[in-house]
Amino acid sequence: MATRSDSRARKGVKTKCAFCLRIGSGLSVYLSRGQTVPRELDQFTVLLNSVANYNLLRCPDCGTYFKKYTVTDNEIINGYVSVEIEEITEERVRELRRLEANWKRRFSRRVHSRLKSLRVDFTPLEHEVIAAYIARQQEELSIYELAQSLPREDRSELQKALDALAAKRVLKTSELQGIRHYRIL
Ligand SMILES: [Zn+2]
Repeated sequence: MATRSDSRARKGVKTKCAFCLRIGSGLSVYLSRGQTVPRELDQFTVLLNSVANYNLLRCPDCGTYFKKYTVTDNEIINGYVSVEIEEITEERVRELRRLEANWKRRFSRRVHSRLKSLRVDFTPLEHEVIAAYIARQQEELSIYELAQSLPREDRSELQKALDALAAKRVLKTSELQGIRHYRIL
């Protein structure tokens, strides 16, 4: 005899675990008011760290999907920072993953076609620098972000590569609040 949970499983209706039931369709955690993100979320599987600044999470117990992102409202009096956790469907997860893959492909294609048109040679480290931009899908990175992506015992090696890329007009340097930034393209 089939139990109720068996027949639910057959219909593809997921049974939520106690934690996900408690979250319901979503949750706003106001960090600026001293609220904290539930610990349980640390155990969730991260399916995607999007360049659009959100994460896709899956509950390890019941498989419910959530989108997690931070909202910062800079209003002086009523400003707040909140972490938004929002249940999403499996279909939406697939759609967001597809979007992310498309962005990545487009970005990489654009960078490579631009580099090709420059007709210059790159050292292995210079290639790694370019790969760091593609991995992060960002056109501009600070010296700190670059150093984090390309950990080197000798930081001057990285600096040399960045200077060389700037000389080849692959990167453009700028200064933002005293921190050096490098923009690709
Ligand atoms: Zn769950």
